[in-house]
Amino acid sequence: MGVEENLQVIKEKVPAHVTLVAVSKTKPDEAIMEAYQAGHRDFGENKVQDLVAKQERLPADIRWHMIGHLQSNKVKYLAPFVHMLHGVDSLKLLAVIDREAEKCERVIDCLLQIRIALEETKFGLTEEDLMQLLHSGAFREMNHIRIRGLMGMATYTDNSKQIREEFRQLKRIFDRLKGSRFENQGSFDQLSCGMSGDYQLAIEEGSNLVRIGSLIFGPRNY
Ligand SMILES: *Cc1c(COP(=O)(O)O)cnc(C)c1O
Repeated sequence: MGVEENLQVIKEKVPAHVTLVAVSKTKPDEAIMEAYQAGHRDFGENKVQDLVAKQERLPADIRWHMIGHLQSNKVKYLAPFVHMLHGVDSLKLLAVIDREAEKCERVIDCLLQIRIALEETKFGLTEEDLMQLLHSGAFREMNHIRIRGLMGMATYTDNSKQIREEFRQLKRIFDRLKGSRFENQGSFDQLSCGMSGDYQLAIEEGSNLVRIGSLIFGPRNY
């Protein structure tokens, strides 16, 4: 099946309140344009260089999501246009985003990445890191970032029970913050988790933003 058909099939399974980010990393412009022509506007990339190159070539009304780990020294390339940064996992990075956003006279939407996977390889904040960050004086003074919610990646495993438990943990942290630190901030409303293999599970556990690549664009050959 082609990109348009794949997209159609997934959209039928994703409820209206859930944002679908089509993860186009490693895929050519033609594949993205096929989804674009079918009306899709949210696309995700995990490398700054690729994201910038595609943004320059493709239609201006695409909402670009940076879903990968972001290095401080590359924030400046994305700051002028990026729609949302999903992988924010340190105060230092947040400070750079705030500064670069100010230069562009923008407020940039960010998701804090939480470490929910049991495996060692994933980036992200522990709950303790998260609390420290949110209660720091430096964070309070940032006016050019807006924390829209949390992002997490489950362990790479076939064990759906474990994946479900990890998503559930992320949702619990999200709900706690929503009832405390972000109580008066209606814009704290995004929970980004779920990929091709586990998006339905993620939605069942409360995700409202799924990042799907291979189910839309086919397998990637790196
Ligand atoms: C690649 C990637 C995805 C999409 O992965 P698929 O399994 O192809 O859907 C989602 N989130 C992140 C952070 C990724 O790097």
